[in-house]
Amino acid sequence: MFLRHQTRPVNVGGITIGGNNEVVIQSMCTTKTADVEATVAEILRLEEAGCQIVRVTVNNEEAAAAIKEIKKRIHIPLVADIHFNYKLALLAIENGIDKVRINPGNIGRREKVEAVVKACKDKGIPIRIGVNAGSLESHLLEKYGYPTPDAMVESALYHIGILEELDFHDIIVSLKASDVPMAIEAYRKAAEVIPYPLHLGITESGTLFAGTVKSSAGIGALLSMGIGNTVRISLSADPVEEVKVARELLKTFGLISNAATLISCPTCGRLDIDLFSIANEVEEYISKIKVPIKVSVLGCAVNGPGEAREADIGIAGARGEGLLFRYGEMIRKVPESELLAELKKEIDIIVTHYEAT
Ligand code: SF4
Repeated sequence: MFLRHQTRPVNVGGITIGGNNEVVIQSMCTTKTADVEATVAEILRLEEAGCQIVRVTVNNEEAAAAIKEIKKRIHIPLVADIHFNYKLALLAIENGIDKVRINPGNIGRREKVEAVVKACKDKGIPIRIGVNAGSLESHLLEKYGYPTPDAMVESALYHIGILEELDFHDIIVSLKASDVPMAIEAYRKAAEVIPYPLHLGITESGTLFAGTVKSSAGIGALLSMGIGNTVRISLSADPVEEVKVARELLKTFGLISNAATLISCPTCGRLDIDLFSIANEVEEYISKIKVPIKVSVLGCAVNGPGEAREADIGIAGARGEGLLFRYGEMIRKVPESELLAELKKEIDIIVTHYEAT
């Protein structure tokens, strides 16, 4: 585990973000929130992929009203994304939302802020302050000229100050920018002065391919510094992909305990089996496994046995067949046509064993 920056722990519908807890994976629905069927269906797919907290847009009264029914049919905490409208925040809270993402400085008159804070306090609901480089307050743009990491941190402190003044401390903060170096610097500076958990994200990062690279570069840099308590990968893609990328990223840093890892080789001229399709199928197969096993899929016996020894279960290809390794020991040879099925069987055995111990 990378050493984590210490923050205040904040409870979101039974999941604690910050403190000594694992980094939590979040995503956001792409559906109209008022369409309960579509929203629940998407959330259930996200749950299955490993999403731990999910956010929905609450942009009108219908969306706020739908929260009650959505909550009954899902199993993970639900967050309301609200811009400016305190009445929608109050409705969302009344309907059982687990967290509100709203910037108190944008709510308006003091009594409106007080009403939202009181409702959150009464129900033990935290507030996420979402600073975005693209929508900084005008007084900060005047001061700094354009969005900068310092301006972003100052914006976060401004909103935090409003909540703290009302003795509210269940706060989570994000400082998103689509410019990766700016986001890294903003979060790094924020981690030095903000005692609340940080929600990491690179906003508007792009499509599945480009967004994955960009988000991994930015969020990965921060995770490696011990910064970040919850992550959302923003992609112009099915949000299930966001969860898959987040899980893979956390695995890279040893920050997730409920995910299986695939080790596979890039292949070369020594290859004698169809490794790419085997690796892709195995990746898909283990994506829903919730125990930290390692599976290796290697093209040949040159590096295969050595790598397989590091894994719980693995194969090394040979001409028309494969060698199956379990905990570093070669257990049998299998014809190529049966390799995938045999590997899946062995994975199941190891998972069952793991779950039983
Ligand atoms: Fe090539 Fe074998 Fe290494 Fe794969 S494991 S890259 S096939 S040498």
